[in-house]
Order: sequence, then structure tokens, then C-alpha cells
Amino acid sequence: MSDNCLFCKIVAGQIPVVKLHEDDELLAFADINPQAPTHFLVIPKRHLSGMGTVGPADEALIGKLMRVGAELARANNAPSFRLVINNGVEAGQTVFHLHLHVLAGRPMRWPPG
Ligand code: 5GP
Ligand code: ZN
Repeated sequence: MSDNCLFCKIVAGQIPVVKLHEDDELLAFADINPQAPTHFLVIPKRHLSGMGTVGPADEALIGKLMRVGAELARANNAPSFRLVINNGVEAGQTVFHLHLHVLAGRPMRWPPG
């Protein structure tokens, strides 16, 4: 657990969330400020600050993060969905604990803003 990390506190159960999935390595929960009818986050329980610091040792975990995000989207009857990881302030990252956004349920434009 990283000091003062919001998502580490969520993993530790100190901040309540609506959980969609939990296993030994990952937690998925509803985003508090949804940007689409379906918007949830999948995070590793282990603190990683973002994609800017991952290495070969994290490969299996990141692969699982993507697989579980896609499976949860499909389980939610979302044939079209978007998986997003923001890295760095200019890319829109506001919480510096790695998280995958899963968005679905409305048409989405490309490129993103
Ligand atoms: P980022 O901007 O870092 O890619 O995404 C952070 C996300 O975390 C945002 O979509 C924001 O709404 C969500 N978020 C921030 N604080 C909380 C919280 O306390 N609970 C939940 N469920 N989501 C949060
Ligand atoms: Zn953390």
C-alpha cells in the first residue's frame, strides 16, 4: 500500500465502492463520476503508479487486467466498449494508481478529446 493513495485505500476497504469483481490480484468497481452508462475501473491490488513505470515483471498482471476488463464488459451485455488507461497529467491521469477504464453504453467518438 502506498501512502495517501486513494485506490490503495479502496483496496484496503477504507473507502466504500460498488464492486463488480474481486480476486487475489484485481478489483473492479464503479467509477464515482461515470462518463458513460457503463463506466467502471479495474485496478491491480498491488500499487503501480501507472503505465509509465510498468516493466516485464508486470506483464502477466497487465494482461489479466485487460482480459478481466473485457470479460466484465461482455458480461454487462456491452458488445461495443472502450478500454482506456490514462498515463500522466497531460493524458488525463488524476489518480496515480494504475487503473483501466471500461466504458460502454453510448456512441463514442474517435479521436478522444
Ligand atoms: P483518471 O483521470 O486518473 O484516468 O481516472 C480516475 C478516475 O477515478 C476518474 O474517472 C474518477 O471519477 C474516479 N474516481 C476518483 N475518486 C474516486 C472514488 O473515490 N471512488 C470511485 N469509485 N471512483 C473515483
Ligand atoms: Zn495505490
